[in-house]
Amino acid sequence: MTSAVERIYDDVIRRNPSEPEFHQAVREVLDSLGAVLARHSEYADRKTVERICEPERQIIFRVPWQDDRGEVHINRGFRVEFNSALGPYKGGLRFHPSVNLGIVKFLGFEQVFKNALTGMPIGGGKGGSDFDPKGRSEAEVMRFCQSFMTELYRHLGEYTDVPAGDIGVGGREIGFLFGQYKRITNRYEAGVLTGKGLSYGGALVRTEATGYGAAFFAAEMLAVHGESLDGRTVSVSGAGNVAIYAVEKVQQLGGTVVTASDSGGYIVDEKGINLEVLKQVKEVERGRISDYADRVPSARYVAGGSVWDVPCDVAIPCASQNELPESAAVALVRNGCRIVVEGANMPTTPEAVTVLREGGVGFGPGKAANAGGVATSALEMQQNASRDRWSFEHTEARLHEIMRGIHARCHETAEEYGDPGNLVLGANVAGFLTVAEAVHAQGLV
Ligand code: GLU
Repeated sequence: MTSAVERIYDDVIRRNPSEPEFHQAVREVLDSLGAVLARHSEYADRKTVERICEPERQIIFRVPWQDDRGEVHINRGFRVEFNSALGPYKGGLRFHPSVNLGIVKFLGFEQVFKNALTGMPIGGGKGGSDFDPKGRSEAEVMRFCQSFMTELYRHLGEYTDVPAGDIGVGGREIGFLFGQYKRITNRYEAGVLTGKGLSYGGALVRTEATGYGAAFFAAEMLAVHGESLDGRTVSVSGAGNVAIYAVEKVQQLGGTVVTASDSGGYIVDEKGINLEVLKQVKEVERGRISDYADRVPSARYVAGGSVWDVPCDVAIPCASQNELPESAAVALVRNGCRIVVEGANMPTTPEAVTVLREGGVGFGPGKAANAGGVATSALEMQQNASRDRWSFEHTEARLHEIMRGIHARCHETAEEYGDPGNLVLGANVAGFLTVAEAVHAQGLV
């Protein structure tokens, strides 16, 4: 870090105390910016970097709701509208007990650069609540979503802020949120949320997009070395929406995925994950990953432990932030892993990234590799705006083209900035340049 950038970082820490994940996300981007800022002195004049590190608006609200027994619960809702230079704020909602302002800010900050990398006209934002959907009935989830939207609706709009899903928020929750938004505003504003059901304005491929996109990105990384996913052993962590569709696409591209995990432990299935069983357990029954091992004789369940101890050629962390620490990176290097591709947001700790780099393992950062989800959200917004519906094949081809474009841009930018193959540098610089140019052009706002 240059001293100017160091000062900006110190200021971020001072003004945002007790938000380690946000500090981590900012640090990672600022670490990449030295050479860029040396070339662009105009960004210092209007404090462009400082403005990009400060959210445009941070909304925190009370979400009261009643459970099935009539007991009252009070959760906290968040929406951080980070940057609207490129388009309306865009980013998911996360419902998980770990959600707090710092988590939402780290996710919103990442989203700004990720969305810029897609090349689509979308700004960055993120939101959510510390609500824990685990073990809640459908009626409870619906009441919670309705209460959440009763406050949030006033901040949303297809030209203002367009949420989608993230951890704990899938098609069911988006449906409840959309219904309540429509009821309160009396407007059928399809483009106000993405990830909608196909019967009311949703887009084909949005469900699959993040996982498919990560697999496409992995294929692009291997292709640089004349390799492919065909015949490769792949480890995936997580068992949610991103993980399931990463497994599906890796399998279609000829790879064998041997793992999946949840907060309780992981499964190893050397024969390759049986996708039908995985979908039944996680999407239909909302069960635990251990249920998979109960049904598939070739699988074993390991309670606790680290999924990254399983030898693989390709690792795709699809669970949550900081799930792949230094010790896991050491195990991956030792076992001969070729590339790590982030399906989740910031799953790899900075120490782990260093170990991977020094061990010669290719690394695809989440803001590039998992951008397929939000890119397809932008395609959903396009279809809503034109009242059109595209085929699965057409939409998937667009997604594939977008992922190829993101990889190429990160790759070329890393070369241009003197560190070929460093996709962290490439993604941060390319994303930053896109946002900074628009922020600068729009004056001091
Ligand atoms: N939550 C997803 C992400 O991390 C998707 C956001 C969206 O589609 O708006 O990018």
